[in-house]
Amino acid sequence: MLRRVFGYDSFRGDQQEIVETVVAGGDALVLMPTGGGKSLCYQVPALARDGVGVVVSPLIALMQDQVDALRALGVRAGFLNSTQDPDERRLVEQQFLAGELDLLYLAPERLKVAATVSLLERGTIALFAIDEAHCVAQWGHDFRPDYLLLSELHQRWPAVPRIALTATATEATRAEIAQRLQLTDARQFVSSFDRPNIQYRIVPKNEPRKQLLDLLRTEHPGDAGIVYCLSRKSVEQTAEFLSAQGVAALPYHAGLDAAVRQRNQARFLREDGLVMVATIAFGMGIDKPDVRFVAHLDLPKSVEGYYQETGRAGRDGEPSTAWLAYGLPDVVQQRKMIDDSEGDAAHKRRLGQHLDAMLALCETTECRRVQLLRYFGQQYPASRCGNCDTCLTPVSSWDGTVAAQKVLSTVFRLKKERNQEFGAGQVIDILLGKRTQKIEQNRHDQLSVFGVGTDLTEPQWRSVLRQLVARGLLAVGGPYSTLRFTDASMQAMRGEETLMLRTEPERAARSSSRSRSGGSSKPQVELSAAAAPVFERLRSWRAAAAKEQGVPAYVIFHDATLREIASRAPADRGELGTISGIGEGKLNRYGDQVIAVLQESAS
Ligand code: ADP
Ligand code: ZN
Repeated sequence: MLRRVFGYDSFRGDQQEIVETVVAGGDALVLMPTGGGKSLCYQVPALARDGVGVVVSPLIALMQDQVDALRALGVRAGFLNSTQDPDERRLVEQQFLAGELDLLYLAPERLKVAATVSLLERGTIALFAIDEAHCVAQWGHDFRPDYLLLSELHQRWPAVPRIALTATATEATRAEIAQRLQLTDARQFVSSFDRPNIQYRIVPKNEPRKQLLDLLRTEHPGDAGIVYCLSRKSVEQTAEFLSAQGVAALPYHAGLDAAVRQRNQARFLREDGLVMVATIAFGMGIDKPDVRFVAHLDLPKSVEGYYQETGRAGRDGEPSTAWLAYGLPDVVQQRKMIDDSEGDAAHKRRLGQHLDAMLALCETTECRRVQLLRYFGQQYPASRCGNCDTCLTPVSSWDGTVAAQKVLSTVFRLKKERNQEFGAGQVIDILLGKRTQKIEQNRHDQLSVFGVGTDLTEPQWRSVLRQLVARGLLAVGGPYSTLRFTDASMQAMRGEETLMLRTEPERAARSSSRSRSGGSSKPQVELSAAAAPVFERLRSWRAAAAKEQGVPAYVIFHDATLREIASRAPADRGELGTISGIGEGKLNRYGDQVIAVLQESAS
């Protein structure tokens, strides 16, 4: 079935065991990262077992696309939710009762309606799949009260197997899902949360928009991607900037008109190669498989957020980039937001801990992936992954004890001798011995620390300051974000313990050469000179076909499939059918058209 319907040669990870468990009538609780291949875990058993697979999902906006994707494979699928008119609904109900469906997608609130329950009772059900199962967790961000109703499925249909799926990692959530859905006896499948095809990179932020443009031009020309910004204003400015530079970019934030937001989202899903510039309001349920990069122009508030947002890249398993530009102003801004936030001290402390974990990830000299997985309680099987910036361009560290002492005693003296506080810029100017107006006005050239830091450059001092703040050895606060001592500052100023700091990679400052050096994430590289234009032709054919059918391009074929077609140039339908991602349904539907595109390209 995997080969015939879906066109794949082998199961991935735990898929086979999960499928076998459910086909045999057992319950399963599945934790798999985004892009891990959760859908097949219930789609294959739904086809294999007698009756209809009922899939409960909160993502109503996606049901049409999910059903379209299944129909393109030749699978009989339908959905019931509040977006339909009664006639449409009746048609699906008839198909369900007549045994003309393999899969039925259902919004959870449908189960409150007695008519839906009695409909389900009159049909034959192959299994219940509960997607986004973490929505049952009451303390989570995505809690949906209707999910609590799902515990009743087991009482009404004790013989029907249930499979709950989520990409949410923590153990506490897993336990809560099992308990609330009465799945404590279900077999649990916990996959590694690693996303090997995503290349993690965190770079010092200099001129963020230029750095971003450089990334897009050198590594991701024509690719679809998401750019996250903190504020609505920077979303709009960045989208305008990219558009002016010839990159097709759209804005998305909560301040936009709902219709505009919806249109931009639909275009992003349906068209090839659009860049969505967005606040984190954009993302839940975006299962576009060919997002090639996720770029952060501002620091995420937590590692959880960072992992969820970057996880939207590369669901199709193809090489993808997660890129974050980060600098001292980010730390200043985030700390200020925490100080200004509502909520009690405990709440602020929690926010502070989340930020600290994120900063530790930014400042690490270790493999990013090793550290990320460790954060989620998983161990990467090696000490280096080979596909993150610290692995590709190993970061050395240096003894920054004395440099830190210089910074700290400058801040200390300003306070002690002058009762003054200043920001990072002035402190660096003092260290470098610059005779600016602001220095002269304040007679800072008369401080004993004036000019003691000429051994380092300005970017190096900025890096030292950023790391001191990131590690809590120096604080930032007040209306002008000035530098201040923390409890730990005094000890560091005495220099009793060696303080190792991260050396910024040589090339990091010159972003263009740097990004080219890390360019292993560019999938097009694999195409030969002969195959590249064929791939482009196939893409245009796919765009036209998608438009005609009103479905997203990836519903027809994924990029990976088109790339394999372009490289192998199959001579006939028989050969075409052996390519990964082409099952019987797609072969029948598109085989002749694809062969025609290939013949045109060859002539
Ligand atoms: P999830 O829901 O876990 O995020 P999906 O079910 O959307 O992931 O699958 C992610 C991608 O991987 C899809 O494009 C899917 O077609 C593909 N995929 C899943 N299983 C396999 C497999 N065994 N072989 C090849 N591709 C697969
Ligand atoms: Zn690594």
